[in-house]
Amino acid sequence: MEEINLRPVAYVLSPVEEPSDMPLGGKDAIIELLPEYVEALQGLEKNSHIWILSWFHKAPRDLLKISPLKVNPDSPEYGVFALRAFARPNPIGLSLVRLERVEGNRIYVRGLDAIGGTPVLDIKPYFENDTIFSPLTPYIRGKSREMRQGMIRKHAFIHHGEECTDMLIGVRMAAIAEDRFGHLNSSDLMVHVQGSLCLADTIQGVSRARLANPPRFTYTNNDEVSETTWTKNNQTLIIRLKGTFNHDDIENLADEELFDIF
Ligand SMILES: [Zn+2]
Repeated sequence: MEEINLRPVAYVLSPVEEPSDMPLGGKDAIIELLPEYVEALQGLEKNSHIWILSWFHKAPRDLLKISPLKVNPDSPEYGVFALRAFARPNPIGLSLVRLERVEGNRIYVRGLDAIGGTPVLDIKPYFENDTIFSPLTPYIRGKSREMRQGMIRKHAFIHHGEECTDMLIGVRMAAIAEDRFGHLNSSDLMVHVQGSLCLADTIQGVSRARLANPPRFTYTNNDEVSETTWTKNNQTLIIRLKGTFNHDDIENLADEELFDIF
């Protein structure tokens, strides 16, 4: 059988050592280039996001169907080509990460799902043409609220680009809506936002609700209120922020402490 030789161009430096310890949203990490490839980084810093193709060296290569264990062990099986799981015949990792900075032979990134020591095969810029705003994807429900919220937070950060207070409020609201309605990118889930531009942008990013075709998203700018209204199959969920909270409150308080929900 034909063989293809690949040589790593870099290695991942990450505090995470085992695939099972990798959080779903990935981790901040450093990609350390081998000295002979440093010239190939020229101009990379002009990108906010890059694709990392890596070799998941600890992944099993003999599995063709698995259930997405990390997301939800109770989910039905999928073929490995229908998942992003580590296990696959050629365990090539494809990760979209935010590029923080380039220093010498080191690339600092956010949200990389490759463990420390992972060989990196290639680095490519993310282009506008890579963007599909509301793709059709299967819904694999995360097994816990913490996990579902973590996934929403990753989407929110990639979309909104800063972890401001209103982004975190939007993530909490979206997690409550997902608990009630399931897949937030569902063509019959309508979303109305009242509040800041950051809240609206976050909710639009995590729900993929567009203004038209199909029209799912409406917005009223309001400095006094932070509120989202979610409607599906004649059921309505309204989530309204109770008052003013700081970053830590929004991370730590319970839903009922932060929001009026009805
Ligand atoms: Zn913001």
